[in-house]
Amino acid sequence: MKKLLNYINGNFQEAISGKWLDNFDPATGQVYARVPASDQQDVEVAVQAASAAFPAWADTPIGERSRILMRVADLIEERLEELALAECIDNGKPLWLAKEVDIPRAAANFRYFANAVTQYYSETYDMGSRGFNYTLRRPIGVAGLISPWNLPLYLFSWKVAPAVAAGNTCVAKPSEVTPMTAFLLSQICKDAGVPDGVINIVHGLGGDVGASIVAHPKVAMISFTGSTLTGRKITEVAGPMFKKLSLEMGGKNPNLVFADCDFEKAVKGSVRAAFTNQGQICLCGSRILVERSIYDRFVEEFVRQVKELTVGDPLEEGTRVGAIVSKDQFEKDLLYMDIARQEGGTILTGGKAAAAPNERCKNGWFLEPTVITGLAPHCRVNQEEIFGPVVTIWPFDTEAEAISAANSTTYGLSATLWTENLRRAHRVAAELHSGIVWVNSWLVRDLRTPFGGVKQSGIGREGGFEALHFFTEPKNVYIHLGD
Ligand code: NAD
Repeated sequence: MKKLLNYINGNFQEAISGKWLDNFDPATGQVYARVPASDQQDVEVAVQAASAAFPAWADTPIGERSRILMRVADLIEERLEELALAECIDNGKPLWLAKEVDIPRAAANFRYFANAVTQYYSETYDMGSRGFNYTLRRPIGVAGLISPWNLPLYLFSWKVAPAVAAGNTCVAKPSEVTPMTAFLLSQICKDAGVPDGVINIVHGLGGDVGASIVAHPKVAMISFTGSTLTGRKITEVAGPMFKKLSLEMGGKNPNLVFADCDFEKAVKGSVRAAFTNQGQICLCGSRILVERSIYDRFVEEFVRQVKELTVGDPLEEGTRVGAIVSKDQFEKDLLYMDIARQEGGTILTGGKAAAAPNERCKNGWFLEPTVITGLAPHCRVNQEEIFGPVVTIWPFDTEAEAISAANSTTYGLSATLWTENLRRAHRVAAELHSGIVWVNSWLVRDLRTPFGGVKQSGIGREGGFEALHFFTEPKNVYIHLGD
């Protein structure tokens, strides 16, 4: 049985308590590794190490910090096959997806911020004969970084890379559900020559490790990605301590299809937006709204393509929908299928557990991709985040009605719209209450843009210089030249 270890001050170590958590392979339903069940004691040691490492790292020339982070990116790419396999086993996602998207994007995170920090600048304002002023943007100290299970290394690295590129040190906690790639990243950090104490990775439960990081007085800022419920708990602790907070939380994203769309692309794109990674991407389009004049045709073709998605062993090339990450999430998805029935919805396809794809996966957690119709925008299934392969679909008559329904949840992470009408695209994009709008596309990423949600989907932005702003503290210095 594999045993993962914490990475604290450059050392690989068990939890001080000696306790372990089970780590499951969702495709087989079996325990395949043990993870340190760390607690407040381990966090204390990690925070002390990070605090001690901070002054030297903050003072390390930017070029040198950049070179080390580039090396991390190189090593992620060199170990792509191993990392992708680890993520596939840990998370249940298809291996090809981990290889093509998750791991390359994790490497890109390190590469981008290693570059960006060398281009990061601060402002000077000339006040003429009276003087001038400038803004120093200095690293802050120890960053607490907490990430979820759905895109394990991709989201974890999107926090670690900007935090340390900006000159902070960190105590980072991956999800206890998918800890394997973060463990491999700790080995990579060691091999890349990241100085001891700069990146500390502590494994364990959210209520133990996560809560201890959030409450620690020496942790000056918290960057969190996960559910809105947990984000609220973190805010309750960190808010009164006046910590800097970046929260990336849940979504219930609308996918708007107008009659003037490119039909083939809209159907294909909507299927992809709905079911990639088993619907377990915060950005998945889980509410599909279709203009009535093409509604029947769209539903027919959409359902036909969904039925063709192969639910299979994540290790197999042809698999389009892999295993659901955990038994809890599997049961939650089934529960929402039941709620949909109780609310009067009609299940057009799916609605139950999928047959095991092979003998190896006979105890795994697999679901049929599910499409539900006949539910009003305000019902629970259309309001609450499910985070699985379950989508709803319904018709609209006017643009205003579509926008109003799209904006009717407490979430505001992303939205997708399908239209060939340029004016409509700009008009609707501006009206949607969400942090990201994709027009005729989905999941396109440009690391220079400010990524994040509005309303209960988040506060804070992860991309580009916005991330470096978060991980630095501005100080204005006024130089008086007059008498
Ligand atoms: P979660 O909130 O259960 O857990 C996220 C992380 O927080 C985990 O590491 C967990 O251990 C930790 N945690 C739990 N309780 C804590 C506490 N009291 N204090 C500190 N940390 C604690 O979320 P999840 O189930 O792992 O992930 C799914 C959620 O993440 C979904 O809601 C999804 O929309 C969201 N998500 C959002 C984005 C985004 O960019 N907005 C991206 C991916 C996932």
